[in-house]
Amino acid sequence: MKELIKSVLLELGFDVVSFVSPSALESNVTLKENYKSWINCSFHGAMEYLKRPEDIKFKPTLIDKSIKTIIMVGASYFNSTHYELPSEEYGKVSMYAWGLDYHFVIKSLLTEAIEKIKKEINKEFTYIIHSDATPIYEKGFAIQSGLGFQGKNTCIINKKIGSFFFIGEILTNLEVEYDNENNFKGCGRCRNCITKCPTEALKEYILDSRRCISYLTIEYKGIIPEELALKIGSWIFGCDVCQEVCPFNRYLYINKVNTKVKEFYQKLTPFLKLQDVMMIESNNQFKKIFSGKAMLRAGRRGLIRNAIIVSVNNKAKKLKDQIYKLSDDKDEVIAKTARWALERI
Ligand code: SF4
Ligand code: SF4
Repeated sequence: MKELIKSVLLELGFDVVSFVSPSALESNVTLKENYKSWINCSFHGAMEYLKRPEDIKFKPTLIDKSIKTIIMVGASYFNSTHYELPSEEYGKVSMYAWGLDYHFVIKSLLTEAIEKIKKEINKEFTYIIHSDATPIYEKGFAIQSGLGFQGKNTCIINKKIGSFFFIGEILTNLEVEYDNENNFKGCGRCRNCITKCPTEALKEYILDSRRCISYLTIEYKGIIPEELALKIGSWIFGCDVCQEVCPFNRYLYINKVNTKVKEFYQKLTPFLKLQDVMMIESNNQFKKIFSGKAMLRAGRRGLIRNAIIVSVNNKAKKLKDQIYKLSDDKDEVIAKTARWALERI
């Protein structure tokens, strides 16, 4: 059955598949303690959802006690095309958000896989599907299942597909032979991600989200402190620096090992025009424009705030009039960021 499940998932476009026990993290004291101390240090910033409920995170059988296996999957979203910013009036988007929103794509691929597996094994079984927005400690199960190892940039890295991949999982009552933890510690003496991170958000294997451009431009909804805003560079949504410099991704760039999932090539947005973003007038208009895209997460406030900051960093003086209009926007974060920008651009 294991090989059958694997082949169904690989055929649908997933690149890596592994199997793990739902109780695998219960005995891994180090992984649990590291996670808890990361939370206790407030490195999760304002992402309160990462805090609770702690028991379920490490013991998914509390969601459904019939769960016997967690099937972990990884789907590459890597796209080797090099997109130069057309001018200083554009902002860069993290690669994971270039195509359609992965939450829907991964969930729909996993649903399709379930139907196929049911047909093939001719048997009903229970299942719960997640991708990213999951109550369980996904990274921990990914490591424990052998899907990859954790790099110093805190990404899960797979020797074959690097780190530009989405993780998803199926929690099921099917009994499947488990894979082993990946004990490969691949980083060795490399520290590229740590030294190249623009905001010094990384220590070895620890991310202080509060300094991370991905967190600041996507999850954080407040005013970005000046010290960090000036280091955001041209990133309007997310940041790929610590993955771009990782030797485990070099092979992908050289050999153009692109994603197999066609949805990650659709509605491609490797960059956004700052003026277009700053002209979005309402939350409804914002939702229409970014429907089906990961940018929805930042909201109108977050994305316009980011566009203003990138305008400053890019010295896009032509956008000054548009920033001026935003200086009395009804959203206080946008208005304050615009007033800050007018003194610097
Ligand atoms: S995503 Fe960017 S800011 Fe965040 S840790 Fe990586 S390099 Fe640093
Ligand atoms: S850049 Fe180097 S240190 Fe950082 S995750 Fe990759 S291999 Fe590890």
